[in-house]
Amino acid sequence: MSKRAYNFNAGPAALPLEVLQQAQEELVDYRGIGMSLMEISHRSKEYEAVNAETQQLLKDLLGIPEGYKVLFLQGGASTQFAMIPLNFLSEGKVGAYVHTGSWAEKAIKEAELIGQTAIAAETKPGTLSIPALSEIQIPENAAYLHITSNETIAGTQYQEYPDTGSVPLIADMSSDILSHPFDVSKFGLIYAGAQKNLGPSGVTVVIIREDLLEKANKKLPTMLRYSVHAKNDSLYNTPPAYSVYIVNLVLKWLTKLGGLEAVAKLNKEKTDLLYDVFDNSGGFYEGLAEKGSRSTMNVTWKLKDEELEKKFIQEFPSQGFIGLKGHRSVGHLRASTYNAVPYEACKALADFLKDFQQRNG
Ligand code: PMP
Repeated sequence: MSKRAYNFNAGPAALPLEVLQQAQEELVDYRGIGMSLMEISHRSKEYEAVNAETQQLLKDLLGIPEGYKVLFLQGGASTQFAMIPLNFLSEGKVGAYVHTGSWAEKAIKEAELIGQTAIAAETKPGTLSIPALSEIQIPENAAYLHITSNETIAGTQYQEYPDTGSVPLIADMSSDILSHPFDVSKFGLIYAGAQKNLGPSGVTVVIIREDLLEKANKKLPTMLRYSVHAKNDSLYNTPPAYSVYIVNLVLKWLTKLGGLEAVAKLNKEKTDLLYDVFDNSGGFYEGLAEKGSRSTMNVTWKLKDEELEKKFIQEFPSQGFIGLKGHRSVGHLRASTYNAVPYEACKALADFLKDFQQRNG
């Protein structure tokens, strides 16, 4: 078998080896039909089964209650930044946003093109952190409150979610969906581009409460209406069928691992390895996110010495580590430790960090 890299890419990111192997086995001849799944109609019984099963797997894993629809859309999470205000912002209403970093900002900027927005809370300047839930102020005329559950670039993550009463809570969960269990019934809409924790790029998962479908703006281009996709079971037009199929395999893999409780435990163990190295390094390494906001999906850190950081960046590729350079807007270092990144990869990185300090500290 070919050697697998220690892949800490931020997205597209590592996929489970078992999933890739099954996809490889089924690539040319999908379950005996003599064709690839990519070569058949999205209205075939084979794809209809994939579509239905993938929705059900997601419902089971997340414990999605009755009254929600699961949609498979295209255009990435970035299209959701626009679809949300297009569907839900009407005259006299504001879209309320918690500003926690680059991804929240992109969502806000897009909504500003469409209607009125308000900042309900924001990260303390000069920090990488999630504001306390008690700081969130929702305007009376809010159409929704939007949060970014995990800021992929900053490496910050909500540890709990706000209660928004009758105002629909909307979350961009692109970089931490399925990383831990949570109560879906708190949310009106959840969306996530697949290419971090769900599968390959090309499909965006949307979980939407049915009452919002009815309330949404009807005067929109067809493809931008949630209600169209919901009514057509995500088959209004040609879906990203192969991407959905890989998501299906990833969801089965997660189910086999023991579901989201087991996955959350493993994610914590993986990232504790790294955060413990920083906290016990006597300041040689420093985690960038505030302790109470640390992410189990994107670990960001720096070296106290700029020259040594350059040396670290030069050295890590030769040790088999991929994708550790921080995003250009935050700089420094980042390890993305999504569900499919094995414990062994995090252990190898923790060992390398300790070894590097020993040689250079
Ligand atoms: N939101 C978050 C939190 C992200 O991390 C990303 C991608 N890095 C996006 C949105 C944008 O996703 P897409 O490329 O699918 O539009």
